[in-house]
Amino acid sequence: RRDDLSDLIAAGIRDVPDFPKPGITFKDITPLLATPASLRAVVTAVADRYAGAGVDTVVGLEARGFILGAPVALELDAGFVPIRKAGKLPSRTLRESYDLEYGTATVEMHADAITPGSRVLIVDDVLATGGTSRAAVELVRKAGGTVVGLSVLMELASLQGRDQLSDVNVHALTVV
Ligand code: AMP
Repeated sequence: RRDDLSDLIAAGIRDVPDFPKPGITFKDITPLLATPASLRAVVTAVADRYAGAGVDTVVGLEARGFILGAPVALELDAGFVPIRKAGKLPSRTLRESYDLEYGTATVEMHADAITPGSRVLIVDDVLATGGTSRAAVELVRKAGGTVVGLSVLMELASLQGRDQLSDVNVHALTVV
């Protein structure tokens, strides 16, 4: 049940104050990952939501989107593609930069990772300001993919990330 899932997620995500810097409350999903019942529940919940949506490829965002995205891909009988911080992927890449509070960040995806016309589900752990997810959507579209959805374990509603993603099907297992 949805309430049971919310309880598992609430129990499995730990608030760490002032990490990585003062004023930020970090949502630490490692307890959830370490607990078999909650790990299975969240992977199943995401896969169930997009079962029948014809997903060809799950794109995971570095780093916790890798951990969640790969088992979701297996459940959906889809492939897995990583989007990484700049400079990590070895072959030719597409790049997208976005603004942070101070400065900018760049993410990359292998240029040949997605077959044009593919149906793509993007997976990450936390939706905060939406900058990372927005950049991921742009990369997938640059590669010729169709973004079927963006799925996260937790959405931090006060940061209004959804406002940047009005053209995307955003699915959050929990909203805080
Ligand atoms: P944003 O681009 O602001 O939506 O940030 C999303 C990315 O940063 C995701 O990959 C998250 O894993 C990470 N992130 C941002 N804020 C938090 C937070 N409070 N706790 C944990 N991860 C976060």
